[in-house]
Amino acid sequence: MSWYELDESDVRVRPNPRGSRRRTKERPAHEDAVPGLVTGVDRGRYAVLVAAGVGGRKTPERLVTAMRARELGRKSVVVGDDVALVGDTGGGLDALARIVRVEPRRSVLRRSADDVDNQERVIVANADQLVIVTALANPEPRPRMVDRCLVAAYDAGLDPLLVLTKADLVAPDAFLHSYAPLQVPHVVTRRDPEGVLDVDGVKDLREHLRGRVSVLVGHSGVGKSTLVNRLVPDADRAVGVVNDVTGRGRHTSSSAVALRLPDGDGWVIDTPGVRTFGLAHVEPARIITFFPDLEPGTEQCPRGCTHDEPECALDAYVAAGAAGPSGPSRLDSLRRLLRARNGTTDVTSDVT
Ligand code: ZN
Repeated sequence: MSWYELDESDVRVRPNPRGSRRRTKERPAHEDAVPGLVTGVDRGRYAVLVAAGVGGRKTPERLVTAMRARELGRKSVVVGDDVALVGDTGGGLDALARIVRVEPRRSVLRRSADDVDNQERVIVANADQLVIVTALANPEPRPRMVDRCLVAAYDAGLDPLLVLTKADLVAPDAFLHSYAPLQVPHVVTRRDPEGVLDVDGVKDLREHLRGRVSVLVGHSGVGKSTLVNRLVPDADRAVGVVNDVTGRGRHTSSSAVALRLPDGDGWVIDTPGVRTFGLAHVEPARIITFFPDLEPGTEQCPRGCTHDEPECALDAYVAAGAAGPSGPSRLDSLRRLLRARNGTTDVTSDVT
C-alpha cells in the first residue's frame, strides 16, 4: 500500500481495509490508481513516469501519457508533481491514462504576470534547488536577472546555486565578489579551445546536483543547453516521444521537462520555455526571512516597511553593529533583491 492510499479519513471511517472505500466529492478514491511523477507537459498531455512493478508486478518502469481527469477542476498539473493515475497505465504508444489526483507539493516555483501571460503560474513542483546559469561573458552577466532568480528561489523555498559559465573568457572573481554577502554556493565552468566543458567544473556541478531535484534557468546563450546535454547525454532519448508528449527537441510550449541524471541519483528540470520570472507575488517579508542576521532589526521598522525606505530601522541596526561586520554588505544585498522584485528584467530562454 502506498502512502497516498492511507488517507486519514479512510482510516477513521473504514476500519476494515478490505471494505469498500468511502467516496467523496472532494477526494474520489480510485483504488486502482497508480502513483507517478510528471516529467513533461505539452499541449494538455502529460508524460508521467511510473516505477517498475507499479500497477502489476511484472510491469517495467515506463513513461505513460496522461490527460487531466475532469474531477481535478482548475488544479494545475506541472512537471515535478506526484500524481495518481487511472486508466491505461501500461505506457503503450496508444495508451492514455488520466490524472485523478495531485499529491501535496513540497515546494512550488512560480512566476507571476508578464506581458504575454497575465496569470500567476506554477512552473515546477517539488524541486529542491534553483540552478541559475549565467555566462561570465558573451553574453555579459546580467546581475539583475540573477537577483530576480535568487528572489524566486528564496520565495519558493529552493536553495539557489549559481553556475558561472565561460570562465575561459573572463575570470569569475569580480562577479562572485558582488554575491559573496549572500553566501550563495557557486560552480564555475570553462571550455577548452574546442568548446568542450572542463571535467572539474562538470564534476563539481554533479556533486551539487546529486540526490536533488534541480531546476535550471538561464538566459539564452549562457550555455545552459550545453550543460544539460553534458549532464544527461541521452536527454532526448530519456524524454522520448510518447504520443503527443514531445521531448526536448520538439518542445515548443512554455513548459519544463524533468531529466533523470544518469546515475539515477537526482533530477534536472530544464525550463526551455520559461521566459520571465515575474515576481509581483513575492512578499518582502518572505525575502527577509532568508536574512536571519537582519530580520531582528525589522522589529523597530514602521508598519508596512518595505525595508528599502528612509524610515527603515535596518540602517540603524546595521550601523550599531548588531548584524556583525558583514551587516552593511548584507543589507545592500537584501535591498538589491527587494528592488529586483520590482524590476522588469526577464529571464529569456534557450529555446533552440
Ligand atoms: Zn524596514
